[in-house]
Amino acid sequence: MSDAKVKKFMEGIIKKNPGEVEFHQAVLEVAESTIPYIEKNQKYKDTKILERIAEPERVIMFRVPWLDDKGEVQINRGFRIEMNSAIGPYKGGLRLHPTVYLGLLKFLAFEQVFKNSLTTLPMGGGKGGSDFDPKGKSDNEVMKFCQSFMSELFRHIGPDTDVPAGDIGVGGREIGFMFGQYKRLRNEFTGILTGKALNWGGSLIRPEATGYGCVYFTQAMLEAQGDSLKGKVCTVSGSGNVAQYTVEKVNQLGGTCVTLSDSSGTIHDPKGIDEKKLAFVMELKNVKRGRIKEYATKFGCDYYEGKRPWGVTCDVAFPSATQNEINGADAKVLVKNGCTAVGEGANMPTTPEGIKVFQDAKICYGPGKAANAGGVATSGLEMSQNSQRLAWTREEVDTKLHGIMIAIHAQCEKYGKAGKYIDYVKGANIGGFVKVADAMLDQGLV
Ligand code: NDP
Repeated sequence: MSDAKVKKFMEGIIKKNPGEVEFHQAVLEVAESTIPYIEKNQKYKDTKILERIAEPERVIMFRVPWLDDKGEVQINRGFRIEMNSAIGPYKGGLRLHPTVYLGLLKFLAFEQVFKNSLTTLPMGGGKGGSDFDPKGKSDNEVMKFCQSFMSELFRHIGPDTDVPAGDIGVGGREIGFMFGQYKRLRNEFTGILTGKALNWGGSLIRPEATGYGCVYFTQAMLEAQGDSLKGKVCTVSGSGNVAQYTVEKVNQLGGTCVTLSDSSGTIHDPKGIDEKKLAFVMELKNVKRGRIKEYATKFGCDYYEGKRPWGVTCDVAFPSATQNEINGADAKVLVKNGCTAVGEGANMPTTPEGIKVFQDAKICYGPGKAANAGGVATSGLEMSQNSQRLAWTREEVDTKLHGIMIAIHAQCEKYGKAGKYIDYVKGANIGGFVKVADAMLDQGLV
């Protein structure tokens, strides 16, 4: 009965959004969990709430022209998807990557609605970005692009309307350039972006928040099974913001991370990526903008060109690079090698086939919309500090972040527990859905 409803619902989505495969994948995952729940709750059924949630409130697409260092004109495409504002201003990151197109950002914006709802904070969902590739560009070129991008985006955002943040390809440098341009155009110093530097309105712990939060969530999943991260061997993919702070927190909680990767390959360091080695990675990736291969040369460990980390034996896996980086075959290898928990730092890093493998094996599987919500939650805390014109201490923010991750775990448990097993996909989807759906009902036909 529910299967037929899901099929029919997805036929409508695919017809309306042709070619947007990542968006279809994200909607299907939510539909599979929520449609059986909606079927039992007439108020959501009669009001076509899921159909409404799957349609963005607004999509903005624009031209981004800029001059490169050779004086040549370059043209990129900019986007902002304002997906849902039922529980607060649109909130979600900006991605700069050559693979960015409408369907990719719609998937991310859709996920963001549920994730933001789970954080317990008043934030709607949005996402944006451009097909601009920051790799190999000079600081000057990145600045020119960011200024041009913000010269259109500034019309559509505001501290009570839409507050973007970072994502792949957007870190402190890019947020700075965009903030500068916004301020120039509006003549206003407001908390319009999160992920700002500390000396002009940023929050302590925001850079760390997604990685730390993912580790707190994974620790909570293990604790629910009477276990912990102490002594666990962990594989991490990516080597950007989320991966770096995942390694830092795993180290603090007594685990050992043995891999990192980038789009060229994976390093495998069985001795563990300790604090000193992590400092090297941070300098390599955030300042020199080099390749992870240089880690293997520096510390004399293995490097697997063109490979992802999932063939390395581990207890816990932290996919922290990009979407669809664990397929069904990778998931089978992880389970066969004894992996008992997966905490998704990245958004939708596991394919539907991979998710099925984890669920069938009944390992702890924390989907991104729950496990990586610490980043946006701390962005929410940055917004609160900006509104109050106050800055909280590191300990204050970290304690709040930890509390939020535990609260998200509790919501997943509430809606996803079946015996001893917790279905975190179901829990996160229904938990995130109920709050947004109820707010939409309260607000009439919007
Ligand atoms: P960064 O740009 O800092 O790092 C991304 C990392 O992933 C890099 O190592 C990059 O390698 C690698 N990567 C990117 N695309 C691919 C690809 N197609 N194949 C293989 N490797 C790839 O981004 P973040 O760390 O901020 O984001 C990582 C993930 O976490 C994303 O899915 C993002 O949406 C998600 N996320 C981020 C949040 C945040 O607060 N930053 C919040 C919540 C989720 P290379 O340098 O070679 O491109």
